[in-house]
Amino acid sequence: MSKRVRKVLSFVLGAAMVAQVACGGLTGDRGGTSKGGARPAPHFEPGFNIFTPEQDVELGRRSAEQVARQVPLMNDAQTVNYVRALGAKLAAHAPGQKFAYQFNVVGTRDINAFALPGGFVFVNAGAILAAKDEGELAGVIAHEITHVALRHGTNQASKAYIAQKGLGMLGRVFGRDNDLGQLIGAVGGTGANMLFLRFGRTAETQADLEGARIMAEAGYDPRDMANFFKTLQAKGGQRTPEFLSDHPDPGNRVASINQVLPSLRVSAKPVHDTREFADVKARLGGQGAREALASQAEPQRTGPSDPTNAPQQGARPTQPSASFTQYQSDDGSFALQYPDNWDALVADDSNMIFAPKGAYGEMNQSLMVTHGIFIGAVAPKARDLPSASAAFVRDQLAANPDFRVQENPRAINFGGREAYATVVAGPSAVTGVTEIDVIYTTATADGRLFYLITMAPEDEFAAYQTTFKRLIESVRLAR
Ligand SMILES: [Zn+2]
Repeated sequence: MSKRVRKVLSFVLGAAMVAQVACGGLTGDRGGTSKGGARPAPHFEPGFNIFTPEQDVELGRRSAEQVARQVPLMNDAQTVNYVRALGAKLAAHAPGQKFAYQFNVVGTRDINAFALPGGFVFVNAGAILAAKDEGELAGVIAHEITHVALRHGTNQASKAYIAQKGLGMLGRVFGRDNDLGQLIGAVGGTGANMLFLRFGRTAETQADLEGARIMAEAGYDPRDMANFFKTLQAKGGQRTPEFLSDHPDPGNRVASINQVLPSLRVSAKPVHDTREFADVKARLGGQGAREALASQAEPQRTGPSDPTNAPQQGARPTQPSASFTQYQSDDGSFALQYPDNWDALVADDSNMIFAPKGAYGEMNQSLMVTHGIFIGAVAPKARDLPSASAAFVRDQLAANPDFRVQENPRAINFGGREAYATVVAGPSAVTGVTEIDVIYTTATADGRLFYLITMAPEDEFAAYQTTFKRLIESVRLAR
């Protein structure tokens, strides 16, 4: 069994899926080959986001200004310069968007660090004091850099926005009148009172693993990050260190970091301790200096305590109409009937989406859907239907790494054809609510793989079954 490295998802039809169309048919001679190899290092892509990277910077700047009014920033040159130099060394290996990172030290004793969108990273003096060596501090900073680089803050704000307004609003968000202030207001106020400071499990896992890669590339030992977490967790008796409430353990945090070690090129002689670190730590820990540190001054936060389970109210599309209307594809490859209050959207010649208003939106040349179906035909990646179906399901999961197979493929009869049905489920990229999708696959007369994916949130799954069943029974494929 090989383990796929998780990437951030988007439920995409559009470019990604269509790009797979190539020569070779289900009845052809050549199947796809996949190359095995060394386990790849962690690499994650930024997730769903309705903000531009420039807006991340603008949002982060506004939030950072607010933070500066709420917490005591240190201006001790030796301490601040040391953290900035260490931060810059690590940020040079940041994934994703290249932000201009800025590092500041908060003069408080609580053990924490936080990052705002666009590259504004804050490290508490307490975190420096709690770190045993420079490697451990590097681990904390690499973790924060990853939250910025993968745009976790605005990803959360995006989900909150969509949960409130529905996907149908996307068109307006991307319109010329796109006003950042309005957008921010819609997700609950400005600055640090937002969703930027506390992350969910997926973001935490990514920050740990991608952070481990950053550490290795910058000449550190990722085990030092794991050690820092162990130290934090061991702080029994006292109240939970702030770092752990803002950056909750996604589960087996230390084990996960150790697990990716073989995929990383860790230096034979990684940096653990440095003179500079020892000096700064001694400086902060000295009598007087330590007392001068505020005991606790955290940026005000009014966001949800667990963003993973953030806003779930949200706009839901209107119930599907019982009255169906006919659709016939231009190339005659398939025909079906769908509720007459749904929209039919063309992704390309032979790939379509049928979905109610408010349940789909276009983003980064991808179409995202929360309720409805994807339908189309692609070049198969294997000669026989079971293998081609399995490969297709794998591709869907690769694009939606939080999704899991819930029911293995079972053979079914699809309008008289041999077909397979696979049930997958996972948190919707858009709303965070669990989504249940059924992937149907069969072969077309011209040797392509025909697919139909039904999508609905778990709590509306049953309500949509009548519609899906009727729609599927109406599908006619060219002979
Ligand atoms: Zn974190």
